Amino acid sequence: MDPELKKIPLPDLQELHARLMCFHEQYADHLFGHLAFPARSMARMFYLGTLKFHFNIHERNHYGNDAWAMPCTAGQTTIVIDHDGHFRSCELRSKLGRVQDFDFDLTAALHSPQMQAEVAAIPGAKCWCTHSCWIHSSSKFSPSVLLFHIPWAYLKHRWQRLPNTSLAELEQFRVQDAPNMGSDPPH
Ligand code: SF4
Repeated sequence: MDPELKKIPLPDLQELHARLMCFHEQYADHLFGHLAFPARSMARMFYLGTLKFHFNIHERNHYGNDAWAMPCTAGQTTIVIDHDGHFRSCELRSKLGRVQDFDFDLTAALHSPQMQAEVAAIPGAKCWCTHSCWIHSSSKFSPSVLLFHIPWAYLKHRWQRLPNTSLAELEQFRVQDAPNMGSDPPH
């Protein structure tokens, strides 16, 4: 509610992302440690490279309006439905209609004339943003992002000097295994 909270200076945002990458390094080890080489290295590279790719877009577009490396597929691969049935291509763009008017058929809403006009309008709108869900749903349909930009982002992450993070700081975020839900009844 307080717009002042959005005013993160770019150096602070970059520093925050660098610190988060320390945690994601740990998560990657936990998530993919069971895989054999080279699958483990590939999974790690894509996981960390994707995060770095997102963070780079966030840094460029938090105050700017910089084109993504891929077209935004809002309205093609994704749709937003508001609480009252209005639908949009993304949360940041206008309402286009109501799913009630399409008998709650999402395919019909996606292929509606207003959504088709919206999809045609998005490239010219240059509304480049920091919406990670849409960055992700767009990037995974882009061969150049998958084959070049994400591996390149990973390499840049590898070359970056990460801030010193103490083990104690990392430990408090350790992912705990789910508790054993055995046959003992709860007391
Ligand atoms: S670039 Fe951002 S604001 Fe524009 S359509 Fe895509 S998700 Fe929405």
